[in-house]
Amino acid sequence: MPAMLPFRTGFGIDFHQLAYGRELWIGGVKLEHDKGAVGHSDADVLLHAICDAMLGACCLGDIGFHFPDTDNAYKDIDSKILLKKTNDLIYQAGYQVANIDSTVCLELPKIKPHSSRIQQVIASILGVEETQVSIKATTAEKMGFVGREEGISAYAVVLLTAINK
Ligand SMILES: [Zn+2]
Repeated sequence: MPAMLPFRTGFGIDFHQLAYGRELWIGGVKLEHDKGAVGHSDADVLLHAICDAMLGACCLGDIGFHFPDTDNAYKDIDSKILLKKTNDLIYQAGYQVANIDSTVCLELPKIKPHSSRIQQVIASILGVEETQVSIKATTAEKMGFVGREEGISAYAVVLLTAINK
């Protein structure tokens, strides 16, 4: 178990390739797009970055350690289940989410029209208010793999507070 501190902060990053014939799940919401993210699970880049930040804050390893892509139990799994399991892990360690800030990097589709729905979904899984979950997005100005729409990435930071048990 990690040392009990009043606060712990964590950082997470994730990448997925984009391909035709896949669904595009971002932040637990399915977006309409001609391409989707490739992965063993539903390849939800934002939820994976948030899970990694939460686990990192507790010094509990990473998402690949807890939910290995070699395990068929996680094949095509809804990443909202992984976020719930991650929240359970940090709760067992004595912590809860204070706030999350995140950025998704992709050219298309636009995230802004969906950000409030994404906030609702994540906040409800974590049992926090929507204003504790910040979702931002940026393009890569047509540069690199994001700019060429070959892939997407997401970054998240999280602050945890100790639970007064
Ligand atoms: Zn991922």
